[in-house]
Amino acid sequence: MIMMKKVERDRKMLKDLLDAKKCFKLVCGAGNEDALEVEKLVTIYSLAGCQFFDLCAKPEIVDAAKRGLERAGIKENRYICISVGIDGDPHITKALIDQEKCVKCGKCKVTCPHDAIIELDKYKVKKSRCIGCMQCVNNCPKKAIQMYSQIQDYKEVLPPLIKKGIDCIEFHAISTDEIDVMDKWAQINEYFDGMLCISLDRSELGDKKLKQRVWKMLECRKPYTTIIQADGIAMSGSNDEYGTTLQAVATAQLFQNADMPAYIMMSGGTNKKSIELAKQCDVHPHCLAVGSFARKTVKEFLLANDLFTNKEKLQQAVNTAKSLVDIVINR
Ligand code: SF4
Ligand code: SF4
Repeated sequence: MIMMKKVERDRKMLKDLLDAKKCFKLVCGAGNEDALEVEKLVTIYSLAGCQFFDLCAKPEIVDAAKRGLERAGIKENRYICISVGIDGDPHITKALIDQEKCVKCGKCKVTCPHDAIIELDKYKVKKSRCIGCMQCVNNCPKKAIQMYSQIQDYKEVLPPLIKKGIDCIEFHAISTDEIDVMDKWAQINEYFDGMLCISLDRSELGDKKLKQRVWKMLECRKPYTTIIQADGIAMSGSNDEYGTTLQAVATAQLFQNADMPAYIMMSGGTNKKSIELAKQCDVHPHCLAVGSFARKTVKEFLLANDLFTNKEKLQQAVNTAKSLVDIVINR
């Protein structure tokens, strides 16, 4: 009974946060299986005021995020979202190097924004750190790198995560296979009765079809129990530029104009410029989700072995993160 009341209260508080349009979501990376990095990210960003955390759908990663919240001494008002994908979604893909084609030039290692490529006797992808951004693929002169999908069986993946106590499930519905999308969406709805998030961009569908899909997905949902994550270009926002955020603003504008009974979150290419650009375009999302840029901003602290023991260093990391989070909280 007490547990039920807590769940209901948390759900209401998450809705209040979204209603206030003060929500900042840290995207740790749907494919980021590095538990220590996630623990550090959640510690830093929760202390900086971030309340929503988007994680890879693995129990050990949810545990790592909870450790981060514990380290920060935060027990209330922080929400965990796990991300699941579908065949074709870049967020659940990993890179693989074909050793026959590789000439060991090292370009992929230099290019990888997530330090996922290691050089031993040969270049290899460290699967747990690969977030599927494809930058290595685009920079390999020998076309030696391929991406492969890690297909998730929701029957196996979701129940243990829901049992752990999560606040939201994000569904990456980037696919042209309408039947597969609706089937997976029905499964998620069957398993979880809390807040759901639909993540979509315009890479596969035109504006009209994109809106039709979301309207269809919202048919089974009560008003404002769903977040539409309006993605620009996934994993493209590592630099603080207007250009990478432009598509996210355009996608958010599309959904805002459609006047759907759902919250709108801007993501994919987002950075410190996103809220300013959105304002100029009269787009007012309920939440801003930042991934690549947020992780890059605190990268030097993530690499530090003494982050949890060196208070001064942790405070510096928090101040750095705060300069990003405050853009949303103080808008
Ligand atoms: S960029 Fe391509 S060829 Fe060069 S090391 Fe990486 S995989 Fe090998
Ligand atoms: S560049 Fe991106 S896709 Fe390639 S190994 Fe690094 S994280 Fe993975």
